[in-house]
Parts: sequence; C-alpha cells; structure tokens
Amino acid sequence: MRIDHLARDADGSLHGVLPDEAATLALGQRLAACLQPGFKIYLHGDLGAGKTTLVRGLLRGLGYAGRVKSPTFTLVETYNLSSLYLYHFDFYRMRSSEEWRDAGFREAFAGDSVCLVEWPEKAAGLPAPDLSVRLEHADAGRLAQLAAHSPRGRSCLQSLAD
Ligand code: ADP
Ligand code: MG
Repeated sequence: MRIDHLARDADGSLHGVLPDEAATLALGQRLAACLQPGFKIYLHGDLGAGKTTLVRGLLRGLGYAGRVKSPTFTLVETYNLSSLYLYHFDFYRMRSSEEWRDAGFREAFAGDSVCLVEWPEKAAGLPAPDLSVRLEHADAGRLAQLAAHSPRGRSCLQSLAD
C-alpha cells in the first residue's frame, strides 16, 4: 500500500494522490497514530469520494478487525478501542442543520471522544476540527487534501509528511 506524493503546500497543508482504495485505507491507517482524546477529523467530499473508506483504514490502524458500517442511515456508529472512544458520524441525511443537536450529539463533541465526521457542512455550529480532509475524484483514484486547524492537527500533518 502506498500513498503517492504526500506533498506539503505553502500553508502547511498536505495533498496527495490516492491511486486506489488501498491507498485511502493506508492514509486512514496513518492518521490513526494522530488520534488522542478529543481529536476531531472532518471529512469532506462528494458521495463515493472515499470518506467511509478512510475511516475504515483508521479503525484498522487502531486494531479494529470488525465490520465498519457506514452510518448513513443511523447518523452515528460508535467504537471503543485502544482506550479511545470514537464516534463516526455521517450527517448527510440530517433533515435540518440542527438535528445533530436535537439527537443529543453535542456531548460527543465536548468530551474526550474522538469524532470522525462525514458531511460536517450539513450541521450548524459544530466546533472546529483538528484536521479536515477533502477527498475528490481524480481519474480512477482520488486526490486527498489535509489541513490542520489546531496545534495537534499541525503536529499530525508534520508526522505524516516526514
Ligand atoms: P463516501 O463515504 O465518501 O461516500 P466510500 O468510502 O463509501 O465513499 O467509497 C466509495 C467507493 O470509493 C468505494 O467503493 C471505495 O472502494 C472507493 N474508493 C475509495 N478510495 C478510493 C481510491 N483512492 N481510488 C479509487 N476508489 C476508491
Ligand atoms: Mg460515507
């Protein structure tokens, strides 16, 4: 598994080509090393861009061998792994930008849990993430762009580029 050219941009963000699904999984696996209590990663990109695949790789990186279900219809799946509590959200099907609050998810974002969020742009008032990842189709593969929004997000990108 390889990630082609994870290159650093002038603003410190990273971009790279993910030629196949294995590369998306590998990037997720590498991101697993960045996780710590309260770490938040927001995943942007169209349907089919590879957001859930990246989460699958990340969970594998934490040693999770079970099935990773897309939370498309449930809005959330939870995992308790390696002393981390993880929420995997997918807000695509929210009926309003406030539904995440009405569903009682505010606490998930306030505490020590790791939050991985697909379609964060559908929710109003989410806190800033540590990292945002944008995935888009590029030929048969994907282009990934990673940006940091906190000191620990920046040290994560630093470690990925090394
Ligand atoms: P999303 O959660 O963004 O809707 P998924 O993770 O469900 O997308 O992925 C949709 C499809 O894209 C899956 O079939 C997956 O195997 C494929 N895929 C993921 N990453 C890549 C990649 N780098 N190149 C080609 N196909 C990919
Ligand atoms: Mg998905």
